[in-house]
Amino acid sequence: MSTNQTKKSQDAEQAVKDLKALEEQDNAKALTPEEERRKRKRVKRRANPRAAFHMSKASVGLNSEDLGSMTDRDAVNWVAVARWGSKTEMPCPHCGTFDKHYFTRADLRWKCKCCSKRFSVTSDTVLSGHKLPLTKILRIVFDWSNGASGMPALQLRRNWNHTYSTVLSLVHKMREGLVRGNNIGAIAGVNEMDGMDVIGRRGYAKRGNPKDKAKPTEIPPELQKPKVDENGKELPPKHEKNTRQNPERRLMLVMCQRGVSAGTGSSATRVTIAVREEGRTVTAFARKHASAESIMMTDEDNSYGAFSELFAAHNTVNHSQEYSNGKGVSNNQAESFNARMRRSVEGIYLNPSHKYLMEYACENAWRQDVRKLNTGKRLEHLFGKVLSVGTSQWWSNYTHGENRECELLIEGNRPVATRGKPKGYQHRLPR
Ligand SMILES: [Zn+2]
Repeated sequence: MSTNQTKKSQDAEQAVKDLKALEEQDNAKALTPEEERRKRKRVKRRANPRAAFHMSKASVGLNSEDLGSMTDRDAVNWVAVARWGSKTEMPCPHCGTFDKHYFTRADLRWKCKCCSKRFSVTSDTVLSGHKLPLTKILRIVFDWSNGASGMPALQLRRNWNHTYSTVLSLVHKMREGLVRGNNIGAIAGVNEMDGMDVIGRRGYAKRGNPKDKAKPTEIPPELQKPKVDENGKELPPKHEKNTRQNPERRLMLVMCQRGVSAGTGSSATRVTIAVREEGRTVTAFARKHASAESIMMTDEDNSYGAFSELFAAHNTVNHSQEYSNGKGVSNNQAESFNARMRRSVEGIYLNPSHKYLMEYACENAWRQDVRKLNTGKRLEHLFGKVLSVGTSQWWSNYTHGENRECELLIEGNRPVATRGKPKGYQHRLPR
């Protein structure tokens, strides 16, 4: 009798469970397609092994200890491999002869087999005539290159006990190498483009600066958005932020090449700084860095209007409705770079001057491109690029007051205030 009862109650329990399971199934079916898509995506993202790269052993190649135990000769060999790809064969910086030149151990320099002139591993580069030992330079630059969004020169100055101007000019020489050696050339494939305000709007708005409260009528005409397009057709009124545009604002334009396989992010990044987001500047930037067979992805801003004629295809995503149309049309990689730049400006540079905005943008573009290289490869990549642009045009003799006197803009460089030469400074006569 009792066993029968138990069986009955078990059956009843089972029936309730089945009913619940059925109900749950029904509920699951009731999900809207949008909810289902989100659910699926989340699962996929968790399973993505690439996110684990930064936690893995593979992300660390060279480390501070390795650099600490490097001798002067090791450092010369390491930089030679980064610059020329070999520590025995290289082109002579004086005559260009490619050979196995004579190496002198005493001064760690080579003697050319053709012209008999001597050269070191930093001859004819931004680091030529360096006063810090090469091992020290490697260690400071390693520190600087490892930060996800950069490292302030003031922090490096504290870490390494050098003067601020020593450290500042060193990292700026690296940035110069990236501006002239990394942010060059055209990219092809699927290129995403976007623009972002890098200075002015946010900072001024936060501090209640009167400049931000400028009335539309007070905005200089060259900074106002055009009201008609090229054909004289009236354009819809733009967002409020554009009618209240701060004259101090600069626009960073970015183009990201989409990685070949899905989920890998962008594979190459190009940047520039502009004063206005308008057809002329945007087109000039795109023609400089995107090849004609590219497929361009942008948002629906009017300034991208000419793209459909210039490139193989031009797809736009309507940001007031969606971030991606689900068929591969989005500019999320470019937006992602904007976020990186914003973190960097708000967390590291804090109040970047117009003069060096291009440098900071190029530095971030490089950090974006090498994010999946290990620490050693990253440093090697940096030195390979930086040592390929010849001597420094903007930072040699910085402590003697010689420094670039313009900001770099796609519209053409503009003069800016410079610190100038110290009082009573006299040029040293050449030796
Ligand atoms: Zn030579």
